[in-house]
Amino acid sequence: MSLSFDPNTIRLPVGHFIGGELIPAEGGIEMRRPSDGKSYTACPVAGVDVVDRTVESAKVALKTSNWGGVRPRERTRALQAWADLIEAEAETLARIEALCSTRPVGQLVAGDIAITAEQIRFFAEFADKEGSELVPTDDANLGMIMSEPYGVVGAITPWNFPVSMAGWKLGPALAAGNAVVLKPSEMTPFSTVYIAQLAVKAGLPVGLINVVLGDGPTTGTALTGHPDIAKISFTGSSRAGSAIMENVARTGVKPMTLELGGKSPQIVFADADLDRAAMAIAGSVTFNAGQACVAGTRLIVEKRVADRLTASILERMKAVRPGPTWNEATQYSPIISERQRARIDSIVKAAVEAGAECLTGGNVMDSPGYFYEPTLIANVDQANPAIIEEIFGPVLTVQTFETEEEALALASHPTYGLASGLFTTDLSRTIRFARKLEAGTVWVNRYSRSRDHILPTGGYKRSGIGKDLGRDSYLANRRTKSVLISL
Ligand code: NAD
Repeated sequence: MSLSFDPNTIRLPVGHFIGGELIPAEGGIEMRRPSDGKSYTACPVAGVDVVDRTVESAKVALKTSNWGGVRPRERTRALQAWADLIEAEAETLARIEALCSTRPVGQLVAGDIAITAEQIRFFAEFADKEGSELVPTDDANLGMIMSEPYGVVGAITPWNFPVSMAGWKLGPALAAGNAVVLKPSEMTPFSTVYIAQLAVKAGLPVGLINVVLGDGPTTGTALTGHPDIAKISFTGSSRAGSAIMENVARTGVKPMTLELGGKSPQIVFADADLDRAAMAIAGSVTFNAGQACVAGTRLIVEKRVADRLTASILERMKAVRPGPTWNEATQYSPIISERQRARIDSIVKAAVEAGAECLTGGNVMDSPGYFYEPTLIANVDQANPAIIEEIFGPVLTVQTFETEEEALALASHPTYGLASGLFTTDLSRTIRFARKLEAGTVWVNRYSRSRDHILPTGGYKRSGIGKDLGRDSYLANRRTKSVLISL
């Protein structure tokens, strides 16, 4: 059966999800479909009162279900049942997501949703495998490091991969025995509400997952500053990450994981498989139209192969075909909003003004949706806006080098250190670069995540604090207590 659908036929769960119930709410922020610009509904904005009520509901749910204290295998099994239901409902979930977001329905079912279900299973398996430890002490004492859940975790997610980001936050927090209040992006909230509804259907205790809708300044601020939110797990821009740190510092003290922006380099040496590199680089900057935190947007290539590689990347970038997210065959996504597309365009224009040259693209596409041409920019120095700014669109810059030192100097970014790519067949150089690159991830001869969820992801510099995915992410949702017993 085709996954393509008529966007006017989809019923959306518009409302907050509190204590296992959809609480309809009216008014709020007007929402437009990125694929055709049509207004379709409004996102309610929860104020302090709704956030208070939601946090209270999570606290009550934790207490009545004893979620953090049940046999750990029960948590594993409940989360696995939820993951199974997410997979079983993948088509409905994909349609809700594709309608509102930039994610094409075909990519959602085979990619985002399948991976999210698998990641929830992955985290579920930690529940009965990671725990407290006994530590060496003298014979007169017994020392242990006791591991416990935090209580209610506050999570906030961005719009670029809404289902995946919800999974990254909910999976480890719930497996670790916490309840969660999640605020999805005001631009793409409904797939997160639907996932929470599925959790209740799958048998997770009512009130363990709550979703409050709203913007950053009102709802986000109320959530991060709430005294009963014990830990924050945030993914979004570095600007919002700073605002959250400020708010938390003002209202109290609590641990936080911040997954923030990026401006990742892709370094290509002449000894690399250039076809493979071109495919990975063009793929990274056109996937989701470059709206990915780890998008490899700065190509840094050895001078003697620069023309060859650039030509091959150009050919691939020019071949993309835009389409609405509700067509199964669509590969090239729209930009999330008119405002974001205008921002991309203004940075590209500023880059050209500062002396850069557009080898392809550089314009909005002529279509009712918010599409932007894949864009390749040359002649940029380290101060050019196209190098400095996280553009969050399909824009790649190209710079050249002759020595390893030059490549490393160009790769280093003043603000960001999220991911990096290296293409070479020289093993010693690979290790040298893996050591020296200032980034939380180094991909070698590929530029994408694998389905090995054990590899943590997170940033250096202002790209963030702490990790998502991997064991780290589970452990970040537990706190430890030192216990010393005199015998
Ligand atoms: P954004 O920072 O504008 O918004 C992200 C979320 O934070 C939204 O839910 C928003 O409502 C909320 N928010 C905004 N201001 C807030 C505040 N003061 N207090 C509390 N919440 C607030 O980001 P975006 O435009 O939705 O997403 C794009 C950004 O996310 C990019 O910078 C991208 O690199 C980053 N991102 C990072 C990762 C990662 O893993 N490092 C993954 C995906 C996206």
